[in-house]
Amino acid sequence: MDIPGYCTLCRSRCGTLNEIVDGRLLSVKPLSGHPTGAALCAKGRAAPELVGSPRRLTKPMRRTHARTDADAGWETITWDEALAEIAAKLGAIRAAQGAESVAFAVTTPSGTPMIDSFEWVERFVRCFGSPNLIYAVEVCGWHKDYAHALTFGRGIGAPDYEQADVIVLWGHNPARTWLAQATRIADAKRRGAQVVVIDPKPDGSGQEANLWLRIRPGADGALALGAIRHLILTEGYGASFVKRWTNAPMLVNLETQRLLTEYDVWQNGRKDVYVVALADGSLSPYDTRQAMPATLNPCLRARLRVQAHGGTHYPCATVFELLAEQISSYTVERVAELTWMAPENIRRFNSLFSGSPRLAYHSWTGVGQHTNATMTDRAIATLYALTGACDRAGGNIWTVSPPTNSVNDYGLLAPAQQAKALGLEELPLGPPCHGWITARDFCNAAIDARPYRVAALMSFGTNFVVSQGNSARNLRALQALDFHVHVDMFMNPTAQNADIVLPANMPWEREALKIGFEITQSACELVQFRPRMLAPHGQARADYDIAFELAKRMGMADQFFGGDVHTGWNHQLKPLGVTVEELRAAPEGMRFPQPFRYEKYAAEHLDTEAPGFTTPSRRVEIYSELLLDHGQPALPCFVEPAQAPAENKSNERYPLVLTTAKSGWFVHSAYRHIASLRRKSPDPGVEIGTGLAHKKSVATGDWINVNTPAGSALLRARINPALDDRVVIAEFGWWEDCPALGRAGSPPSGPLSSNINAALDDKEHDPVSGSVPLRASVCNIERAQEQNRGLWSGERSFS
Ligand code: SF4
Repeated sequence: MDIPGYCTLCRSRCGTLNEIVDGRLLSVKPLSGHPTGAALCAKGRAAPELVGSPRRLTKPMRRTHARTDADAGWETITWDEALAEIAAKLGAIRAAQGAESVAFAVTTPSGTPMIDSFEWVERFVRCFGSPNLIYAVEVCGWHKDYAHALTFGRGIGAPDYEQADVIVLWGHNPARTWLAQATRIADAKRRGAQVVVIDPKPDGSGQEANLWLRIRPGADGALALGAIRHLILTEGYGASFVKRWTNAPMLVNLETQRLLTEYDVWQNGRKDVYVVALADGSLSPYDTRQAMPATLNPCLRARLRVQAHGGTHYPCATVFELLAEQISSYTVERVAELTWMAPENIRRFNSLFSGSPRLAYHSWTGVGQHTNATMTDRAIATLYALTGACDRAGGNIWTVSPPTNSVNDYGLLAPAQQAKALGLEELPLGPPCHGWITARDFCNAAIDARPYRVAALMSFGTNFVVSQGNSARNLRALQALDFHVHVDMFMNPTAQNADIVLPANMPWEREALKIGFEITQSACELVQFRPRMLAPHGQARADYDIAFELAKRMGMADQFFGGDVHTGWNHQLKPLGVTVEELRAAPEGMRFPQPFRYEKYAAEHLDTEAPGFTTPSRRVEIYSELLLDHGQPALPCFVEPAQAPAENKSNERYPLVLTTAKSGWFVHSAYRHIASLRRKSPDPGVEIGTGLAHKKSVATGDWINVNTPAGSALLRARINPALDDRVVIAEFGWWEDCPALGRAGSPPSGPLSSNINAALDDKEHDPVSGSVPLRASVCNIERAQEQNRGLWSGERSFS
């Protein structure tokens, strides 16, 4: 029997047809007609192996030996025993030390099946009363979803690849990480769209691009500023959009650095009405609650003295003028120096943005895992705003989702508890203001009680020992806990530390509700209920089931719909007038078409709705007073990556730049024991260019040590002639063995570790989001003599 569903092993959420015979999963195939069902990757196709893996956790287990003991002494216990003990211990720690002393962790819902349960686990955390959820958003989608909102009031939107003329993939490799996007981009290229990929390596989407830009890791902001300069100099920007829908024409008081308001200039003026300059030198109030009147034609470039109503004169300039001055030094030559790119490629890139093209773009972790992530996103977002492509056909569109009831609002957590989120003081605009904390802040609290002690952790999935920088410290933090519960499908170095491990089932073994498939407007309108297709392996349960059970035992049944997830799902669906049972009868999902229009910010047809953007100035904020208020630059600028600056003069010991990347054959740090996947990529890989390989006498297949000031990792070299010889590209996520292929595992840290995060740390981080330098740190490499003894690849040159 073929059962329709969708794969949630990664962000692509591909529509699937699942072949079930005699209660076993035999194969998974693409579900044609589904908005994400065009293709499946090797990981999705390996589902039968994953589900049937002998490494699956099947029963709750309790540690009987000390954490320092290599053998945990696991004993199996019943679910009843496990849940009773967890409820009692978490409840006791909360009563004695406050709910904030219990932290929680989840795997990324972008890249794991946690998406099936995320909102329910988050609801549990909030109803429990903890503001501390390790979510890793600062190393995943923070900049594109939340930093982007500093400019546009909302996230990056859905690229309309089908109608785009130009597609820019910025630090984003959908061929490896988001297949449903990759297939659409390939179609777009076939019909003639220009595809540009900005990435230090060509592997994946770069190989297919019309223009691959080999950028220095962390220098993306400089490239964006150079393109902005080109647009301004050539007047190739979308002038009408820039005047009407960004705050570019608004005047800034240069003494206060604030946007000038009507209140500043005219008696009885309002503080929320701005001021623009006209060609004749006069000023006009500009009320952004309405669209700019067609008769108003403000100057974009102006510098003048303005007389305030009290008689004082202020030097003022338009936002656009300040931007133009700020980026004037980013000539092609300077950008080439900063980015290590060829000037002719930079010129080619700059020219793509002129004349308001149909421009769709996406950026992801290649831009986000840096100490300058927020400012880089500000530069990219501003470049995009200047083209005027946003929310237009062929641009990035803001989709309209079907209305549903949210069940995980941050408002479920009392404000007094929200204020205790770890890291909130340092990152008031960052993840902690949503109750999402960084691994670094969790470790400080667990190890040093800074600013207070975290005594317990309940992790739903996650392997943050391996998947976050400073692995040895992450392990120390786990060892400092009084109580640790871990829920997972497989054992990993993080689970290994827990006091109780609970077995999670796999997506094919549980029901799930998916509201919207993200990538297009019509995909967003699809609601699909995925049935349970297989009996759970052993006693494994869904993460949401565990959240509901614990909630009941901790007196929160009322907040959890009497403990029945179906009632909870029906509550979510209520505004749509549909139930789980009705969705069950439509296994490929039901569409709920929404009223959609382009350029929703204009919405001039609506009498009741103010047009604009959900930013403080109600316009696209090229100039951000919010950032200014938090000690950050109001205008986009380029900030050197802190751990790999261009001027690396003093660094004879670490002259190279280390960047990292996911392997497309696995999901983060998981599934390396699956033979069909491991066969594709048997060893932890590190790529270097031909010149560097020659200089270091390294051949393909050699083991090399990647050394940084923070540590080292042992990986196997692949020579890639396309790479810059100053750059080293290591895969992240390696620790697991694969006995079926005779491949050994490695410790999460120490001299024999292949975990690149053992060589990276997070002392330096983005001042707004806390993002860490996983993609740009200084390093050096050397052949690992011991590991290469007797190894002969047959490729080494003796010249
Ligand atoms: S790309 Fe692969 S792993 Fe990701 S959802 Fe699709 S089939 Fe699953």
